[in-house]
Amino acid sequence: MSDEVFDASSPAELAFSHADIAGDTRTCGSCQSSIGARYFDVGGIHTCEPCGIALRDGPGTAAARAMRAIFFGGLAATLSGLLWYGIRASTGYELGLIAIGVGFAVGFGVRFGAHQRGGWFYQALAIGLTYSAIALTYVPEVMDMMMAEDPGAPAFVVGMIATVLSFAVPVLQVFDGGVMGFIILLIALYEAWKINKRPEIEIQGPFATPAAVPFAAPALQPELAPASPFPTP
Ligand SMILES: [Zn+2]
Repeated sequence: MSDEVFDASSPAELAFSHADIAGDTRTCGSCQSSIGARYFDVGGIHTCEPCGIALRDGPGTAAARAMRAIFFGGLAATLSGLLWYGIRASTGYELGLIAIGVGFAVGFGVRFGAHQRGGWFYQALAIGLTYSAIALTYVPEVMDMMMAEDPGAPAFVVGMIATVLSFAVPVLQVFDGGVMGFIILLIALYEAWKINKRPEIEIQGPFATPAAVPFAAPALQPELAPASPFPTP
């Protein structure tokens, strides 16, 4: 079983054809072993029951995949957000392309963590992490503004409030001439969402494997039947 089966963009990876399942040589399209009494239809390809179940439910549990997606998506969000902040802080330029890069990095991080499964949960996670990564880069600037207004405020409290307020910055910038930045944010969110779309491979089953045409053994004629070595009572 491999993740490639879920990659709708590479159907060529599935190196077998329907001919393989014709007649008595019914082999699983995933593990190449013989299909037993029941089979699954994975996007038109027949697999054995264990492979079909594994492709439908696995790999791992849903909770484990979600944890992996949160971890790798969060890692990508942290690293790409820091990179974007670093470039902005050091050059003074808000480079939109890098914001879109945050969307790509988070999108692929979530996708990797989720074993390429995709779906609404991972799409929502990718969008949330991308938005957070971009919004949180404004925390230092919001803190500076708050400290300038009230220099005596405790830094911890200012930091907490700035963290919450930073989530409004990407939207509020629209009213401050930052329409382009907002559009770029939308593109980044769109990429994160798109990367985690569920591949359109339908998994159906299990179905009962149709019985192979039985080899018609000639019925033994009574006179040809071997004589019983035991005396008939
Ligand atoms: Zn199989």
